Amino acid sequence: MTTVLRNLPKVGEDISAWKIIDVERLELEKRKGPTLPEPYEVVVAPQWNGLCGSDMHIYLTAMLGEEKMKAPFVLGHEASGIVVEVGTGVITLKAGDKIALEPGEGCGRCEDCKKGAYNHCENMKFAAADGRNGTLQGLYKLPVDLCYKLPDNISLEEGALIEPLAVAVNAITNIANLPHSANIVVFGAGPVGLLIMAVAKSLGARRIISVDVQQERLEFAKSYVATDIHLASESKKGETKEEYSERHAEIIRRNLGITDRGLEAIDVVIDCSAAEVCMQTGLWILKRKGTYVQVGCGPLYVKLPMRIIADRELTVKGCFRYGPGVYTMAIDLVSRGLIDLKSLITHKYKWEDAVKAFEATKAGKGEDVGPPLRG
Ligand SMILES: [Zn+2]
Ligand SMILES: [Zn+2]
Repeated sequence: MTTVLRNLPKVGEDISAWKIIDVERLELEKRKGPTLPEPYEVVVAPQWNGLCGSDMHIYLTAMLGEEKMKAPFVLGHEASGIVVEVGTGVITLKAGDKIALEPGEGCGRCEDCKKGAYNHCENMKFAAADGRNGTLQGLYKLPVDLCYKLPDNISLEEGALIEPLAVAVNAITNIANLPHSANIVVFGAGPVGLLIMAVAKSLGARRIISVDVQQERLEFAKSYVATDIHLASESKKGETKEEYSERHAEIIRRNLGITDRGLEAIDVVIDCSAAEVCMQTGLWILKRKGTYVQVGCGPLYVKLPMRIIADRELTVKGCFRYGPGVYTMAIDLVSRGLIDLKSLITHKYKWEDAVKAFEATKAGKGEDVGPPLRG
């Protein structure tokens, strides 16, 4: 996580900003700050920014989705900040308030916005995506409805993790519809996997099974929230992915006492690993009518056991960013002490050292999402 704690800039002053110029090339630029806020806008001084897989993807490839970036732009989308100035219509916030920033601005007019699915807005403006400037800069202007006040018992450091936590809240509540006292298996124990497990625990999951390829990540998951861990087995020589997945599901069942029906059956599987074999294994391990959610992005095409999906009436769902209500809920879960964000912060860097933060994350990068969020 990259941060700055310094005198807050004022509207009208020049600000500094970390821009990506090309592959693994960041530049600290002096630029003109935002103009005065419109009636329902807020100008914020971002204080902490988390780095995640998508920041690293841009840093390492200079690609935005399928396309090479066209011009330099400011990075950062997981941010907390301090309110500097509010528009005349804003009554919920004042200068000096600590907030978590939601980085995606829907238009509020298109079909998807109108039905409450603003994450699918056709005119979405998202920080540090599509060439739009992000939050790694001295001041950032956004609509008031994307500013979430942090209670006194949540620090600005923790505030930067509300964005990835919102993804986890969305996956568990709106998408998986986690049943009461559920048994859940989460593939991938990177930051998002950990946060998903934390949300499941906070909402009363019975068993939280973490599966990963790295023992140390599993140890952390166990000390953090998982009730059970499973180190993914090696594949046998000459074994196909499908053979491996089916066999691996059996090993997990046997090792952890998972049954097809009853108390020990798996209600929900969430894949945060983006590995084809995990997707296959996850579908094999689910109980009848269970729910599978794909959170990690992976290859465009994968081979799935479609007959198992059909025969067992499995529900297979996608998950994209977040939706209405999840930021508020994420903040409340942390404020009530049900989710610990502090232990997920592994490194903190000064504003001037943003490049070091990217390089450290690159060096520690795991097979999928990478290590817990870094300064
Ligand atoms: Zn992110
Ligand atoms: Zn829209």
